Amino acid sequence: AVVLVTGANGYIPIWTVSSFLSRGYSVRGTVRSSAKGDHLLQYFSEYAKEGGKDRVKLELVVVEDITKEGAFDEAVKGVDGIAHMASPFHENVDDPEEFIRPAVQGTLTLLRSAQAHAGPQLKRVVITSSCAAVITIQPTARTFSELDWNEQSIDEVKAQGRAAAPMTKYRASKTLAERAALEWFKERNGTLGWDVTWVNPPFVFGPAIHEIPGNKPENLNTSLKAWYDFVLDTKNPKGRDALGDAHVLALEKEAAGGERIIVTAGAYVWQEWLDIANAVAPSIPKGYPDILAGGPEYKVTYDTAKERRVLGVGYRTKEQTVKDTLADFKVRGW
Ligand code: NDP
Repeated sequence: AVVLVTGANGYIPIWTVSSFLSRGYSVRGTVRSSAKGDHLLQYFSEYAKEGGKDRVKLELVVVEDITKEGAFDEAVKGVDGIAHMASPFHENVDDPEEFIRPAVQGTLTLLRSAQAHAGPQLKRVVITSSCAAVITIQPTARTFSELDWNEQSIDEVKAQGRAAAPMTKYRASKTLAERAALEWFKERNGTLGWDVTWVNPPFVFGPAIHEIPGNKPENLNTSLKAWYDFVLDTKNPKGRDALGDAHVLALEKEAAGGERIIVTAGAYVWQEWLDIANAVAPSIPKGYPDILAGGPEYKVTYDTAKERRVLGVGYRTKEQTVKDTLADFKVRGW
């Protein structure tokens, strides 16, 4: 089987490419320029050249502008499944449309290309949404589920425009993209021959295998940079392939069709990462261990019953994630 992974060079996408390849799927990845694909082809060179074990192959297609109508027409041809992951997630944003347009239009462009050009073998499109499209920021602790939608960020962006925080713009873009795809799909459900699944993870941590420009921590993707800043940055003392696997399972499990699924190993407070990191490497800033004296109090928790019932992802513990991530950072000389 062949799957298309969009934005294949990103932090989570490259782990997802890895999950698909190791489970015997050939992967066609999209990148915005051929230079952005060099690291992928090198990292998976065994698959990129001859095809790996059982002729499992990685190939890349350049899709410069995912918002352009027909952008994915060629890329979708002949694929059995699609993981749509390309979407902006950084802090360098002024006009909210810089996030909203690629998130919403990029997704609709992909869906339309899939409908018109993928072919009858296509079974499912898995869209990487986010808990950003689920949670609302509030003063009291709360458990969120797939029934919750983040209207709050959309309202804030409407009210504040460019002045809204980058994360608010990001959250609005993910909510609007998920909803646009849901509406598109509902209008055509039953006529397509394939269905859509949304995977909604919160912040994802763990080692990086994607290209980090200049090998500098400041160029990390947003979630891992937040982890680095919190745990390692001495000036600031205060999931990885599990998610790749979640995308494979979301494509494979019959019951995932049409579903929105929150995928998370569990809650954390930042101090927990510091405590665990200190047990591994005592040179790391201590933070404020006292705040965990009565056990961690989680403001945001998720009901993961659906994930466990439908997908059954195997997660790493926080301890393992810390060890693996610090080992990765050490190799990089950080
Ligand atoms: P990365 O920034 O590492 O990857 C983002 C990918 O999307 C890259 O391939 C990037 O391409 C591409 N992209 C960004 N902006 C555009 C654009 N305007 N047009 C076309 N492609 C674009 O981030 P992540 O791996 O974290 O994100 C991958 C997906 O996972 C996203 O959909 C994100 O919303 C989602 N997600 C991430 C979470 C996390 O904690 N990391 C949590 C929940 C969801 P390029 O390299 O060329 O910029």
